[in-house]
Amino acid sequence: MVIPIYSCFHPILRKKTSAVIKIDDDIKKLVENMFETMYKADGIGLAANQVGQDKSLIVIDINASKDKHKSEPPITLINPVIEQFSDNDVEYEEGCLSIPKFYEKVMRPEIIQIKYLDLDMKEHVVEAGNLLSRVMQHEVDHLNGIIFTERLSPINRTLAKSKLRKIQKGQVIPDYPYIDSNGNPLK
Ligand code: ZN
Repeated sequence: MVIPIYSCFHPILRKKTSAVIKIDDDIKKLVENMFETMYKADGIGLAANQVGQDKSLIVIDINASKDKHKSEPPITLINPVIEQFSDNDVEYEEGCLSIPKFYEKVMRPEIIQIKYLDLDMKEHVVEAGNLLSRVMQHEVDHLNGIIFTERLSPINRTLAKSKLRKIQKGQVIPDYPYIDSNGNPLK
């Protein structure tokens, strides 16, 4: 089932999410719905609080991206923590399903080491680079209540101000079910 995505200006996206303690049918259903919602919205990553759920949980499928990269299976990350960041930063254009039709370049560490649980509560520690690293950093930020616009350079943030104001006022309508900054469904 496709579920509505919350605007980045809604307070739910500013709060750190709670850890998932056990995998029950509700969590499995949520993961299924999150994948369906992400594909419907043409996204490559989605955090649970973006669909209004206070859970430390992310789904990612970078194969939906048009960028060149080696193919990776879709993944579900429960309670992910980035344990290490490489010293060098790289620039990459990011978008966010909670900020419709807004894209901007952001600097972030190139390579990360991330620890997470899968749907069997099995722990994984993996190193990620390229697009996968980028999406993981963006989504883990969501779980910590951080929006990527906070990571823009000061000049880019200034330049983006009027665009973001329009989005905040609900003047940019996405092609997928969406809940605006005041909690009203837009579609
Ligand atoms: Zn996002």
